[in-house]
Amino acid sequence: MFIEPHLGRYQQGRISRTGWIEVICGSMFSGKTEELIRRLKRAQIAKQNVEIFKPAIDTRYHDIDVVSHDANSIRSTPIYAPHEMILLAGNSDVVGIDETQFFDEGIVEVCISLANSGKRVIVAGLDMDFQGKPFACVPALMAVAEFVTKVHAICAVCGSVASFSYRLVPSKEKVLLGETESYEARCRRCFNEGMAKSNLKY
Ligand SMILES: [Zn+2]
Repeated sequence: MFIEPHLGRYQQGRISRTGWIEVICGSMFSGKTEELIRRLKRAQIAKQNVEIFKPAIDTRYHDIDVVSHDANSIRSTPIYAPHEMILLAGNSDVVGIDETQFFDEGIVEVCISLANSGKRVIVAGLDMDFQGKPFACVPALMAVAEFVTKVHAICAVCGSVASFSYRLVPSKEKVLLGETESYEARCRRCFNEGMAKSNLKY
């Protein structure tokens, strides 16, 4: 379980907190969004100002809410480009970003800038695409983050710990929205066995 750090120092008689970046990454069905929501809700309970963003591309469930698969949701703002977050974050203490892998590389500079301005930035996203390759901006965010949490799913084939998102439908599009009908979580061995078979089909 991730425990929030105390990263502050006394300055002129009051505690001034430094910003930082947290990354929650893993495969599909690993509970990334649930973990993001857990951290954000606890910050809200502590009366911290929380802003939540997600890419406008992700319209699987609802335009406004960050919605996890267990229907435990939290209000969010859909945005098209990372730099919109700089203005919209305003004087928030905590900024949460879901489905981060759908943003362009600009997201890295934006997260750094938000953290440098003293905000706690929590990003959740897929660390690998359907081919098991590092996904877009998420690896770069893992490098610049203070804290990285990799969460895991359960392999749908053998029940081992799963880190890969195996695509069940024959498409080579990098972005294919959809949930249970299009993907399943797999361990390394079952992922590799599936890929070896599906490559024959292409
Ligand atoms: Zn397996």
